[in-house]
Amino acid sequence: MTEEKKIYVREFDPDLRAPQVIHDWSGTARVIRYVGRCIICVRPTFEADDGGNDPRGVMGDYANQGLDAKSHGMVGDDVVLCWRCGNEEGSYKRAVWLAAHHYWQHPSDIAEDDENQYDSY
Ligand SMILES: [Zn+2]
Repeated sequence: MTEEKKIYVREFDPDLRAPQVIHDWSGTARVIRYVGRCIICVRPTFEADDGGNDPRGVMGDYANQGLDAKSHGMVGDDVVLCWRCGNEEGSYKRAVWLAAHHYWQHPSDIAEDDENQYDSY
């Protein structure tokens, strides 16, 4: 008789900021890390070390769907956005606007700054 593989899923805790080890449906251990709060709804968001941020998994709406400056033609750090806000048109557009006006720079603005630096030499 073969022993059945024990499958267990630890409840994901969105209030925990320390890395969490989750055992998925296949029994594979996955490390889930806190990323930050959503720019729109301030929900805490998380990412898995294996890159699998599927919201159908344990993270649900807490999965980070970060905004990438480069994909919007801007320069800057990724901005934290939860899965729910990232998938609602109004929230998504507001997040991009906030990021573009408060966190990112347009490449031409950076080029101007560089030129001004040279002027002072
Ligand atoms: Zn959100």
